[in-house]
Amino acid sequence: MTRMAPPPGSGCRDIPVLRERGQREVFCGLTGIIWLHRKMQDAFFLVVGSRTCAHLLQSAAGVMIFAEPRFATAILEETDLAGMADAQEELDREVARLLERRPDIRQLFLVGSCPSEVIKLDLGKAAERLSREHAPHVRVLSYDGSGIETTFTEGEDACLAAMVPVLPETQARELLLVGALPDVVEDQALSLLSAMGIERVRCLPARRADEMPGVGPETVFALTQPFLGGTRDALMRRGARHIAAPFPFGEEGTTAWLAAIAAEFDVPREQFEAATDAPRDRARRAVAAATEMLNGKRIFFFPDSQLEIPLARFLTRECGMEAVEIGAPYIRQDVVGPDMDLLAPGPVLSEGQDVDLQLDRARAARADLTVCGLGLANPLEAEGLATKWAIELVFTPVHFYEQAGDLAALFARPLRRRAALKLEAAE
Ligand code: SF4
Repeated sequence: MTRMAPPPGSGCRDIPVLRERGQREVFCGLTGIIWLHRKMQDAFFLVVGSRTCAHLLQSAAGVMIFAEPRFATAILEETDLAGMADAQEELDREVARLLERRPDIRQLFLVGSCPSEVIKLDLGKAAERLSREHAPHVRVLSYDGSGIETTFTEGEDACLAAMVPVLPETQARELLLVGALPDVVEDQALSLLSAMGIERVRCLPARRADEMPGVGPETVFALTQPFLGGTRDALMRRGARHIAAPFPFGEEGTTAWLAAIAAEFDVPREQFEAATDAPRDRARRAVAAATEMLNGKRIFFFPDSQLEIPLARFLTRECGMEAVEIGAPYIRQDVVGPDMDLLAPGPVLSEGQDVDLQLDRARAARADLTVCGLGLANPLEAEGLATKWAIELVFTPVHFYEQAGDLAALFARPLRRRAALKLEAAE
């Protein structure tokens, strides 16, 4: 049905991990609002932060123009920071004004930032109070998106984890897909699952507040993103069970992810093959077309999106690349263990970051492609290294069979550009 994992001991699960706890070079969790607000159509994200936070959001979302934006920043002024004004009262007023003006809002997220964390503004308490005040029309929740201790994909994890305790209880045997995928990609997953005969599928987050799934002891869930460890824990606290699997990147990852779900629901082998054979074949051909440029090339991952391990698995096993170092902000074996089982030993696995030391290693390695955050990409490009921005991997549809070719192409593009530039220079 699917390629088997290498025998125990031949993957990367048990190799020593280089753990670094130094200065980090990453975006903060507010970034997630950019894709979350697109997904949840009646949600609003109110960042309780500074002008810096407002600027970050505006520039990250700068390419989009909204008639009715669905995120904003409640600015904490210097007086709030000095504790001279009652920020809670100000927040209540701000929320009341917003909800009066925008009756379309059904879910309001108060998003914590570095400044709100520094002044220890209790947004959890504020959310409870405001939820009582504005129920039943609006539910108010809070989560932290501050950059003090988080990487940019942790914003989505914190947001989804905040939703889990308030999901209704259900006794139904249902599959829950967890992760904010673009609608068109989510629809592809639902149609594959439906072709396998699995119809009772719900999504977290749902597109609208009144479609939010229930959760209970008969819920089984599959993560679609490797950065959702906190959400996984929250769902398990509600009695749901995690279907561990490699992540659905590339043909092999998608097949293995679907196969784990198929095993859980006793899908007959013939039905699984009937549902997956044609898209698998398309995916293989699409990946092969993009792989020419990647084959035999060396890649170095800085820790950023938390997608690093599953992507390294895809690039080494399906695209012929060689991984030199795979850095990830966190390595949770209960989340990425199945991907580690498929990764051949050889690359350095590093967790956390000490950016200067890692830059030294990247410079010494001079890989053909270095995957990193925006802050590191420009200096490395100036030093002659080809780079790929990790953040693009979260903003671009990359999951499941139909996107497998695009995912490979995302990595091939910087190499192609560099090859073209070299050619031009030689002429
Ligand atoms: S939350 Fe912190 S890191 Fe993020 S924009 Fe605001 S001040 Fe900057």
